[in-house]
Amino acid sequence: MNVNEPSFRDSVDMMFDRAVAVMDLSPGLKQKIKVCNSTYTVRFGVRLRGAIHTFTGYRSVHSEHMEPVKGGIRYAINVNQDEVEALAALMTYKCALVETPFGGSKGGLCIDPRQYEEHELEQITRRFAYELIKRDLINPAQNVPAPDMGTGEREMAWIVDQYARMNTTDINARACVTGKPLNSGGIHGRVEATGRGVQYALREFFRHPEDVAAARLTGSLAGKRAIVQGLGNVGSHAARFLSAEDGVTVTGIIERDGGLWSEAGLNIPDVLDWMKAHGGVQGFPGATYVPDGASLLEAECDILIPAAMEGVINLTNADRIRAPLIIEAANGPVTAGADAILRKKGVVIIPDMYANAGGVTVSYFEWVKNLSHIRFGRMQRRAEEARHRLLVEELETLSADQGLGWTLNADFKDRYLRGSDELELVRSGLDDTMRIAYQSMREVWHGRNDVDDLRMAAYIVAIGRVAASYRAKGL
Ligand code: GLU
Repeated sequence: MNVNEPSFRDSVDMMFDRAVAVMDLSPGLKQKIKVCNSTYTVRFGVRLRGAIHTFTGYRSVHSEHMEPVKGGIRYAINVNQDEVEALAALMTYKCALVETPFGGSKGGLCIDPRQYEEHELEQITRRFAYELIKRDLINPAQNVPAPDMGTGEREMAWIVDQYARMNTTDINARACVTGKPLNSGGIHGRVEATGRGVQYALREFFRHPEDVAAARLTGSLAGKRAIVQGLGNVGSHAARFLSAEDGVTVTGIIERDGGLWSEAGLNIPDVLDWMKAHGGVQGFPGATYVPDGASLLEAECDILIPAAMEGVINLTNADRIRAPLIIEAANGPVTAGADAILRKKGVVIIPDMYANAGGVTVSYFEWVKNLSHIRFGRMQRRAEEARHRLLVEELETLSADQGLGWTLNADFKDRYLRGSDELELVRSGLDDTMRIAYQSMREVWHGRNDVDDLRMAAYIVAIGRVAASYRAKGL
């Protein structure tokens, strides 16, 4: 790291300051929105392997202008208060930008989850959850966590069960956390949601030729060459969807143990299978292994997709980045210093608060599903099918009566007659959200001559909404 590199938290604050400098807000309101309302630190002991182990965890609440507040819980060894607060602030802005009715929060536990057995992780998670639940830092109406780095459906299932045990009469207990497995009140499409959101964000970007030209690119998403850093939950889904459904060639992948390069494009499901079997990418046949994976961030491509963690594009490598378009699938992958360098070079950055908002968007759907106690589509699906059938049958009757000889293509009929299930509805809601949020950013990007980039536009939209909410209800 370069010594002049600001911390993650400072980076987020600097980006905030840049945006509010051109906004008409009172200094007092700017300050109120910027600060993190509270951070609770907990240290708790768990007896494991015959000894007591002490763990440190955090839950930060950045803004309660809307409640519940929302944001994931991260398990990583380098979790610290500054990082959790920066991530909580990003959640506030992210939720405002994509219009999910939440304030911003984030949690973290200092732990390397790979060092523990499953039953040990369950004990640790339940104990951490207990500490947060008894202070209402996990609560369907006040604070609703979700997965983040190092956590997933399994941890969320333990958390919801712990909450239910401690709140036996709360009929909305399942809404205390999102990202749960289906059998604990989860929703179809939540696991893929963040990666899916990255795909929808890119599709929307490429619907605007003016924006594509700003990134010195032409044409559509099909045929573009991408490098993906991190094949975790976000990167793996994004890479898989983009290559299988949009004709993107993933030429480079960066993982913990190195990178892979293939001019012809990597087969993502094969790489994922290889990683599962071998614990890393090294040795994957049919691609060049690059021991210094991070060097691939600087390789030539059309789209760079950092999908792992914060600060990977920083003052030490920003001026060597060759991608004309970066989409921040992770939170905070580009530091404020690197952002300035890249902007000067004319690189277009689709910012994290928009690009990775697919996760919290589908979390919102899950929370609504839990509060309404019914799966999406359960009431309408067959009614929708019946109406479609009515039309198809009428057309066929007309054709027979009039001797027109129309026959409806069987595949069309099949697809048209099928009512939407939960997964289709979730994807449709996510697609709509990503399109609308992008359009709100680009209106500011192109509509104001003091705004030159999408990040600043995103902050302006988000901060404007948070400010409006404070103004409407008072502090
Ligand atoms: N941890 C994810 C994020 O950073 C998801 C948060 C949520 O669903 O509440 O956006």
